[in-house]
Amino acid sequence: MSKKQIPCRYCKQEVDDGVKRCPHCGTHNPTIGVKKAMVWTVGAIIAFYLIGFVLQMLH
Ligand SMILES: [Zn+2]
Repeated sequence: MSKKQIPCRYCKQEVDDGVKRCPHCGTHNPTIGVKKAMVWTVGAIIAFYLIGFVLQMLH
């Protein structure tokens, strides 16, 4: 059983599923889809808004 191969989201060359870094182009987490990255980005923005809101409430 060989590891599942997934195309890198940046250079499209196949890499092992779950690798931390693409061996071809050096992209971090190349197998994490764009959708998942978007969810993380949106989540981080919401978290920053909430922190900012809480800090304003404290003043
Ligand atoms: Zn790549």
